[in-house]
Amino acid sequence: MYAELMVDRPVADLLGDWDILDDLVSKKFSRFKRVGDGILGIRRRMLEGNQVVDPVKGVLPQSLELGPNGIHAVGHDILTLRMTTGGTPHRVPHNFGFWHINDMDELYLTLPSPRPGEPAYMIVIMQHPEGAEGESFAEYCEVCLTLMFERHYNTGRLGFEGFFKANDEAIIEYNSDSKFRTCPQCGHLNPLGYTWNPGRDTPETAAARLQW
Ligand SMILES: [Zn+2]
Repeated sequence: MYAELMVDRPVADLLGDWDILDDLVSKKFSRFKRVGDGILGIRRRMLEGNQVVDPVKGVLPQSLELGPNGIHAVGHDILTLRMTTGGTPHRVPHNFGFWHINDMDELYLTLPSPRPGEPAYMIVIMQHPEGAEGESFAEYCEVCLTLMFERHYNTGRLGFEGFFKANDEAIIEYNSDSKFRTCPQCGHLNPLGYTWNPGRDTPETAAARLQW
């Protein structure tokens, strides 16, 4: 995974030095980056108990997954490998306003903070999709969980580089017409969607980010 990284200090100096992750690695992966056959993302976030605090977005709720029994929350336990299996819709409230459905499994590993009061490392690892594999941005009715909208991005052929643009376009399309947000099953008008990036928010999507 680290084939592209160069370290100009003796490895013995780095053992036990968590800061090496911050100085040399995590800045390169602050969003996501393709590395060989994988995609890697590293976040530094404060953990307070099971609560995650993003430096920009504030306290993040637990991740949500949508399964056969409805929505359930999943935590961020330290030094515990967690997996969202391929095909499982998942989202983090106030962080991204759509359900991400990845054809690939997503692995999450949270490493402890190096010192009390410093952020922990949250690492996301997945295999880069190939061929027809990719991921979807989906919207389900918040009342009855009916699928209302889904746009698939063929990451395997188009590459991870176009992922965020595809995400922007899907959310702009979803928000462009209230027919997409109106549940065909129960008629509920759902709130606007929003992307991963608060920097792309309009006043309307910023309000939606606070809402759900
Ligand atoms: Zn509904």
